[in-house]
Amino acid sequence: MKYQNTLEFSREMDEKDPLKSFRDRFHFPNFHTKEVVYFTGNSLGLQPKTTEKYIKEELDAWAKFGVEGHFLADKPWFSYHEFLSEKAAKIVGAKKEEVVITHSLTTNLHLLMVSFYRPEGKRTKIICEAKAFPSDQYALESQVKFHGLDPNVHLIEVAPREGENLIREEDILSKIEETGDELALVMIGGVNYFTGQLFEMKKITEVGHSVGAVVGFDLAHAAGNINLELHEWGVDFAAWCGYKYLNSSPGGVSGMFVHERHAYKPELPRFAGWWGYDKETRFQMKPGFNPMRGAEGWQLSNAPVLGMAAHLASLDIFEEAGMERIGAKRDVMTAYLEFIIDEISERNNEKCKLEIITPRDINQRGAQLSIVAHGQGKALFDALFEQGVIADWREPNVIRIAPAPLYNSFEDCFRFGQYLESAIQ
Ligand SMILES: *Cc1c(COP(=O)(O)O)cnc(C)c1O
Repeated sequence: MKYQNTLEFSREMDEKDPLKSFRDRFHFPNFHTKEVVYFTGNSLGLQPKTTEKYIKEELDAWAKFGVEGHFLADKPWFSYHEFLSEKAAKIVGAKKEEVVITHSLTTNLHLLMVSFYRPEGKRTKIICEAKAFPSDQYALESQVKFHGLDPNVHLIEVAPREGENLIREEDILSKIEETGDELALVMIGGVNYFTGQLFEMKKITEVGHSVGAVVGFDLAHAAGNINLELHEWGVDFAAWCGYKYLNSSPGGVSGMFVHERHAYKPELPRFAGWWGYDKETRFQMKPGFNPMRGAEGWQLSNAPVLGMAAHLASLDIFEEAGMERIGAKRDVMTAYLEFIIDEISERNNEKCKLEIITPRDINQRGAQLSIVAHGQGKALFDALFEQGVIADWREPNVIRIAPAPLYNSFEDCFRFGQYLESAIQ
């Protein structure tokens, strides 16, 4: 498609957008003196206007029923998570029984690694990406130490080559093959939070399995962004948070995926809690743990219903929009934004070269673009904020922006370009 960096063109694109009406379903921040361009849905998604209603229903049920709301509420709290599983499963390409919404992301990563990182004999090592999200680094490191092993030896990071920004997939695959029967686990962010690089999860899973390792993904930046097929790809486990592309409230509940070939093994070691106990006999409160079959067997606690309600509000919107349409718009809108940034960079080459470090290939990225603003510092970002652009700054000079297909518009992309250019000047 031939793009144009004009207001008219961006409005024509919005006119043709089958998802255009979804923008009105979200609250846009209004604290700023200007109308904002919100490009941080990869950090905290916007609030759906329906969220309040979903939460209010549960507050009302609590007021009306007290503890009896566990069974008498319209959506009984005892099984509240069940209202979310199928909708969340569609987003990540899984069977309903393979998914549960519970806890928070880092907690879930730990719980899954307790089950799926089982160093034994010479098979002790974990492969992860260098510069993983800090919480993942800490989680991985502490898991290795938990088994009495040294992270310097047993945690292998695959880094970009000298002078490059992105990790070459071939380097991940060859490291997996090279580590071979010493490799216990591959645990990688499906989309790197910093560069926006999307890894080929199917291929990594295949190669990981070919050497006998377990393969799991952190999908914090992928869920609700990338078209995922976790079941088909044979991924062993995954976790993601609900508050980035999934718009489910600050610190909101997380999702867990356990492939069905593991999910039905009650003997699989895990850290247990009562909500993971077989629901038919849970309240007999018997000693000895008998887990639910499916991903639900990894739940520890009864669900935080208010946070779950916020997640359900958003999942209902995703279901209506459909990941297929979301993915189609994501690719076109991100490419449009890329075109605008390139054009501005070319025009202002003297003052500021804008280097997009996110892959140019749409098959290797989602909605995020990470831009290095050469020759510019935080002043550029501050000037953008002044104009109403809510983006993300990483020292020393990286701007991360993510047009979220559900609520961002092509006009947002155009306006971003205008502000960027005036900020540079
Ligand atoms: C956002 C993010 C987290 C945050 O973890 P919480 O437990 O939700 O605070 C962890 N890992 C990655 C890769 C993330 O992008």
